[in-house]
Amino acid sequence: MEQFPVVDGELSVGGIPITQLAQRAGGTPFYIYDRRLITERVNYLRRALPKEIRLHYAVKANPMPAVVQHLSSLIDGFDVASSGEMQVALDTPISAKNIGFAGPGKTDKELRQAVAADVTINMESEGEMRRIAKIAEESGIQPRVAIRVNPDFELNSSGMSMGGGAKQFGVDAERVPAMLKELKSLDLLFVGFQIFWGSQNLNAEAISDAHEKTIGLAIRLSEQTSSDIQHLNIGGGLGIPYFPGDKRLDIRPIGDHLDKLLLDLRVHFPNVDVITELGRFIVGEAGLFVCEVTDVKESRGEKFIITNGGMHHHLAASGNFGQIIRKNYPVTVGSIGRDAKSEIVTVTGPLCTPLDILAKNIALPPTKPGDLVVVFQSGAYGYTASPDRFLGHPSISEMLV
Ligand SMILES: *Cc1c(COP(=O)(O)O)cnc(C)c1O
Repeated sequence: MEQFPVVDGELSVGGIPITQLAQRAGGTPFYIYDRRLITERVNYLRRALPKEIRLHYAVKANPMPAVVQHLSSLIDGFDVASSGEMQVALDTPISAKNIGFAGPGKTDKELRQAVAADVTINMESEGEMRRIAKIAEESGIQPRVAIRVNPDFELNSSGMSMGGGAKQFGVDAERVPAMLKELKSLDLLFVGFQIFWGSQNLNAEAISDAHEKTIGLAIRLSEQTSSDIQHLNIGGGLGIPYFPGDKRLDIRPIGDHLDKLLLDLRVHFPNVDVITELGRFIVGEAGLFVCEVTDVKESRGEKFIITNGGMHHHLAASGNFGQIIRKNYPVTVGSIGRDAKSEIVTVTGPLCTPLDILAKNIALPPTKPGDLVVVFQSGAYGYTASPDRFLGHPSISEMLV
């Protein structure tokens, strides 16, 4: 994890030693994010992807307001999935029309807020469309809407599938023509499609294949319904390495392939804005979770490091956020002695459940109470994706340096 250099035997973030950051946080546990790494990641995306691609940040990956503000000067738009996230995005200088609001089960209250804010609503069903039309009538504001399409293809690769087959997300591609026909009788401003097929994918070929099918589907849908589109959101899905054996994704071939696909798209839609929405790829590797050893004990020949940070702070690292087989996130200690010999240990949190494990059977240098334990790859789906109230421990802090 070379993005966080070890200086004088101590891990550092943004040039600040981790123990100093712990003092600054007022104690452990805490999350720490590095703004320079986030900026570099966006620059990398800009270099590798076609120039005209519009980059959106999926706020749910890390909705910390300071992170969202920082990104607002680097990217072209936000994708939000709740009115809470929408408010954070609206507080930035990004224009409302470049904020896309997706998510099944938007309430009337959320829809009213979205219409009043003039964001782009990615509609997830015909029923939602009719509710928006009713709100439009009441408010006198014409809502800006797109259709979130549940594609008619599924990704043939690992990663988290969020499209294809029967899903609670979006409108099945084959239902879109009828929906668009109805839409044209309503007072809604139709701007385009969002086609989201999955997440956390490390296979460049599978991603390029999904892009090809996505753009093909968008062209077919628009032609079938003779609808003009101003924007096309082709999803995101770029993954980051979490586990031993995960290979880092090289996005240059994905960008080259997209270049060719865009030529084809331009024949049909010369002016369409093509959007990709990314969360973890932008922020995931820029963050650490830091906790502190409270006890070291042995049980029947195995060594346990008990910390004050657990699944209530970092559900994903505990393996309970969508993993089928539990694997360890990369974990280390804050201070790395030069010739300390590693030993095999299991790192747990303080909760009274066997699920509260941060790392099982990993090699760590000898630790004692007071030492810091660090979990890498924690910039996305960390604190906000964790059951913070479980067992009633106090909330923890997040910092951006
Ligand atoms: C969660 C989500 C994303 C972000 O996924 P990452 O894996 O964090 O890049 C993007 N778009 C939609 C619609 C999502 O639900």
